[in-house]
Amino acid sequence: MDIGRLRTDTPGCARVAHLNNAGAALPPRPVIDAVAEHFTLESTIGGYEAAEANADAVERFYGATAGLIGARPDEIAYVENATRAWDMAFYAVPFAEGDRILTTTSEYSSNAIAYQQVAAARNLSVEVLPDEADGTLALDALEAELVKGGVRLVSLNHVPTHNGLVNPVAEVGRLCREHGVLFLLDACQSVGQLAVDVREIGCDMLSATGRKFLRGPRGTGFLYVRREVVQTLEPPFLDLQAADWKAPDGYETRDDARRFETWERYVAGQIGLGVAADYAADLGIAAIEDRVTGLATGLRAALTERPGTTVLDKGARPSGIVTFTVEGHDPTEIKDAAREVDVNINVTNPVSHGYDPHAAAAAVRASVHYYNTEEELDRLLSVLP
Ligand SMILES: *Cc1c(COP(=O)(O)O)cnc(C)c1O
Repeated sequence: MDIGRLRTDTPGCARVAHLNNAGAALPPRPVIDAVAEHFTLESTIGGYEAAEANADAVERFYGATAGLIGARPDEIAYVENATRAWDMAFYAVPFAEGDRILTTTSEYSSNAIAYQQVAAARNLSVEVLPDEADGTLALDALEAELVKGGVRLVSLNHVPTHNGLVNPVAEVGRLCREHGVLFLLDACQSVGQLAVDVREIGCDMLSATGRKFLRGPRGTGFLYVRREVVQTLEPPFLDLQAADWKAPDGYETRDDARRFETWERYVAGQIGLGVAADYAADLGIAAIEDRVTGLATGLRAALTERPGTTVLDKGARPSGIVTFTVEGHDPTEIKDAAREVDVNINVTNPVSHGYDPHAAAAAVRASVHYYNTEEELDRLLSVLP
């Protein structure tokens, strides 16, 4: 990777040391240009007319995102964020009274709230699987629960937002296939930093966001739904994009993933997200993963040497998300001190991952991307108490 060139291609790199890529990464020049140009065109010739003029770029989004995750274009829906993409899949699952949902301690609270809402309304059970000693999901416990039966859905994240963990998703997928159970994967923090291949993972549904490691615009996301299950999933909402009107008073739901879309959308964002997916694919996701993992490993090693600093990341092979606490210092105070020297980091709070029994009260989160440098990591280290 030519880091110098990639940084020149990222205007934000001249301004800040951006270590908040799990929050929202800095977009590269081609993404910025694609979004700005489309919005400019809308304001010049009209929104509908601009969408017609850029129809190829709008359509390109499907091939670009599908290609990045090993899916087919008709298995992709464009959704305004990952939360709604995930919701469209989750609320479409045909639950029956007494069904079981299995998830993990690292689950994102938005998802956990949805489980509880549906569980209360439909009389389901939500069960949180135990972890191995290193914090990864215990696969033998998952298998034992699947053997017991009654599981309608296994739902978890690939990489959580708060502790560097990478869940063993391909093994989960294999077990779900073996037992014929639906597998919904929240890949918000992995798409764009790690290799994500839906066939290798074996998930039925996957949600992702544009703004995090993919470096796309905010307010964009997408949903993957496997061709073989899409028609068994009834979208919780329909409009005239998701279904066709059939006179005199009927309708027919689309038979591909776009049944989860709405007609109205942030068109510039869709184009920009497609460009971001192509940008990541051109760099090569293996090279991205190497670079991100290498920087994060270096940062963890440096943090571990500091007295009073505790690195909280779990798992055998942690992601680009580095979390830690410094004894006697509030994470927010550290975040503010870093901001003073133009270093962006973030604070994770236990409310975002309510099922995690071991989560620290709050922690500093420094999430690296390939365009970061060792110098930027040193700048962070130099402001730590
Ligand atoms: C950020 C995040 C989400 C939500 O993504 P949005 O684009 O904000 O809707 C879901 N799950 C995880 C693990 C996340 O980190």
